Amino acid sequence: NGGTNDAKNLRVKLVLLGDSGVGKSCIVLRFVRGQFDPTSKVTIGASFLSQTIALQDSTTVKFEIWDTAGQERYAALAPLYYRGAAVAVIVYDITSPESFAKAQYWVKELQKHGSPGIVMALVGNKADLQEKREVSAQDGMEYAEKNGMFFIETSAKTADNINQLFEEIAKRLPRPSP
Ligand code: GDP
Ligand code: MG
Repeated sequence: NGGTNDAKNLRVKLVLLGDSGVGKSCIVLRFVRGQFDPTSKVTIGASFLSQTIALQDSTTVKFEIWDTAGQERYAALAPLYYRGAAVAVIVYDITSPESFAKAQYWVKELQKHGSPGIVMALVGNKADLQEKREVSAQDGMEYAEKNGMFFIETSAKTADNINQLFEEIAKRLPRPSP
């Protein structure tokens, strides 16, 4: 399911889905490189990055992160993109109800066609833009709960909750028996 694993070291394919402009690439760059570039253009450089994190129980998780812009424009390509993914991070922008509706579309699509047992996270990004908020945290949380997903609000700009997002995903991954 998205990579080779032993009891102590997991390797997983992670895809990001969501409307164009919600901050998927910025979340990845913040997590992998610790940077935020407000002037970055649509698809920033590499569409494939990896980052390893260590958990408290001394296991490691290597995320192989697929971040492409194609799936936003060509829904028909999406299955190629999320095929074999162990993790799907579905992102919306808390200032955009349209992007929240689009996130729900992706949840349904993955429930139907994603890998069995895929771990899904719902992410409300741009949490630094509180004064422009149009999707309440309550709405995000309730939708995620109903669909058995992990929910978090993040800001790629301030780095708020970015590492927590990936740590919580890592904790929820199914473990191979030792
Ligand atoms: P993508 O199309 O989903 O990959 O979105 P990008 O990562 O390219 O980001 C789209 C725009 O949103 C860029 O102008 C970013 O600077 C901005 N952006 C991304 N994340 C945040 C955030 O957490 N807060 C704010 N204020 N802007 C963000
Ligand atoms: Mg992008």
